[in-house]
Amino acid sequence: MSVPVVHRLSLNESPYPPLPAVRDAMRRAVAQAHRYPQFHPDDLTERIAAWCGLPSDHVVVGSGSVGVALQSLQAVVRGGDAMVYAWRSFDAYPLLAGMTGARPVPVPLSPDGRQDLGALLAALGPRTRVVVLCNPHNPTGSMISAGALSAFLRRVPRHVTVLLDEAYVEFARGPGLPDTAALLGAHPNLLVLRTFSKAYGLAALRVGYGLGAPELVERVRRQQLPFGINAVATAAVKASLRAGGELRLRVDTVVAERERLRRELAGLGWHVPEGHANSVWLAAPDRVDEGARALTLAGVQARHFPGEGLRLTVGGRKANDAVLTALAGLGAPRRAADGAYAERS
Ligand code: PMP
Repeated sequence: MSVPVVHRLSLNESPYPPLPAVRDAMRRAVAQAHRYPQFHPDDLTERIAAWCGLPSDHVVVGSGSVGVALQSLQAVVRGGDAMVYAWRSFDAYPLLAGMTGARPVPVPLSPDGRQDLGALLAALGPRTRVVVLCNPHNPTGSMISAGALSAFLRRVPRHVTVLLDEAYVEFARGPGLPDTAALLGAHPNLLVLRTFSKAYGLAALRVGYGLGAPELVERVRRQQLPFGINAVATAAVKASLRAGGELRLRVDTVVAERERLRRELAGLGWHVPEGHANSVWLAAPDRVDEGARALTLAGVQARHFPGEGLRLTVGGRKANDAVLTALAGLGAPRRAADGAYAERS
């Protein structure tokens, strides 16, 4: 018998529904749904640019950050060009490569679950047109520091576009975080991808944006579907920008819950690496497959990579407590008498 899902913690969504002011803005926009949105989303682009403190020619808006990534690949990839990215990572990267005729070049993560910047650089070849970094990284939550990112960017040839996916950047905390907007001037091949789906809690509405140098941004904008950003989503994003303070408090709560989960899971015997996204990563050799089964039985839907790891979105307090109850006591791998792991799940 399958257990119904009570807590959906599998898609790194926000646990919060839209704020009342955002819902009101959407309702007003729905009343005008017989009208087209702007042909190109110029107003929204200007609003986002002003909010980022950048000129509007540095900003491109798309259908989620994944839509901006697709536009970027359409803009720069010709059939057979290579696209290099760390793997495991966000599932969409290989799909986007397939959609645009790019040859995917996945580069294994380092044993501690980080994107291996040296190996990524070594994988760049004469046909490489794009390299993707995910920072904070999905699914591990690991973070590339400001220094490491700058050194990496300096070593990437100018003809290779760097897609820096910052879908989770608002949840990152601590010293040494990159200030990517400040890097744009020095790196005309850098496109930073951001989204309203995660910290801003508007995943259903599909609005993301890219930040880059004007020439690259212009090429990516040329791939924009006319009338492609819907008016209800635009109204919701504008209202969210006005409610920035309230939304930041929500993000702070998610971050606090992430750290509580990390502490308490560690207390239960799980090895929990520091993470900077709205998720927690549990990896083999801890007993992730048994953990996944226990979560399913508790009505918690997590993202399970069999034999590899478990990604748990940070939910509301009740959902996080359900996780802790389900995972109590399962963490450490069983050891054989000689001290070796009896099981590598
Ligand atoms: N980038 C990463 C790293 C993600 O994990 C996700 C969603 N899981 C996205 C992008 C997609 O974001 P959007 O909703 O903006 O397309």
